Amino acid sequence: MKILFAGAGALGSRFGYLLFKNGEDVTFVDTWKDHVENIKNNGLRVIIDDKELGYYNIPTYYPEDAQGKYDVVFVATKSMQLRSMLTKVKHLMHENTKIICILNGLGHVVTLKEFVKEENILIGVTVWTSGLGGPGVLKAYGSGKTEIKQVKEENLEDTKGLIDRLNKAGLNMKYSDNTFQSIWHKAGLNCVLNTYCTLIDCNIGEYGSFKQNLELTRAVLNEVTAVGKAEGVEVNQELVENNIENLFDPSTGGLHYPSLYQDMKNGRLTEIDYLNGAISKLGKKHNIQTPVCDAVTLMIHAKEFIRGNK
Ligand code: NAD
Repeated sequence: MKILFAGAGALGSRFGYLLFKNGEDVTFVDTWKDHVENIKNNGLRVIIDDKELGYYNIPTYYPEDAQGKYDVVFVATKSMQLRSMLTKVKHLMHENTKIICILNGLGHVVTLKEFVKEENILIGVTVWTSGLGGPGVLKAYGSGKTEIKQVKEENLEDTKGLIDRLNKAGLNMKYSDNTFQSIWHKAGLNCVLNTYCTLIDCNIGEYGSFKQNLELTRAVLNEVTAVGKAEGVEVNQELVENNIENLFDPSTGGLHYPSLYQDMKNGRLTEIDYLNGAISKLGKKHNIQTPVCDAVTLMIHAKEFIRGNK
């Protein structure tokens, strides 16, 4: 089974490393020159839980240089890079290539359907975390788990066999009928914490220390819940509010600056259009007013623009 990582940044290289180490036939494609060249020349340097685990010679290419056909494609770009990456790796897929997508945010199925049949799309949500310690260096902590579901449930036996095989490498994936609800729950949490921490310029604990944080949280989550319902997804708002509150403690996440905050700080574009921006867009589709998500999406774009983020 040939497995391609279309995007081998923090999350992609972490899953790719686990599979490669377990003997799977793994290839990376990426567009970040320094990252690709470092892995090509030295191998992927892996540091997990502050332990140096060595250099791994995972075959790595620019998308246009890769050849052959792959049975499984993990897409692991940022949300706004998904369509352009899929366009670049189209030639590496055959009729039955399965795509696994565990990007954060909403709206990815629509994009994926432009490239593969619905029965070949596995959409998921992960609580694994990962980071890069510079180009070519995977630096991550702990472990995680992933919920996954096939968009059109045909030939599920094949998919379940695939999941079993990926789990032999420790990916800890579970097929779940509740995956869409979990995707919305994580997106709801991110619509609150990623966005507000970036706009307020604070970490999660500092956000929680503000006495009226729940008012701010609900201003966003009420819109997420209403739009989710129109999309056929029952968002358990109380659960999301509790999940947010549980992160305020410094021992659970209070000291953490969310990924959107870090992207903003590092001069990169953010995933806002797939979080609050997606709620605004879907709100319009269903004629639901989403003034808070509309405004915070524009504010994040204004901040990206003023900082000259790319
Ligand atoms: P990432 O930014 O590490 O990688 C995405 C792409 O950006 C890759 O192609 C990578 O090579 C490139 N890239 C990374 N740093 C770059 C730089 N400095 N300059 C130029 N290009 C660079 O993103 P990720 O963290 O792997 O996230 C992928 C998806 O998974 C996102 O949707 C994210 O929200 C989601 N996600 C990430 C984590 C995590 O802990 N990293 C956890 C859950 C979900």
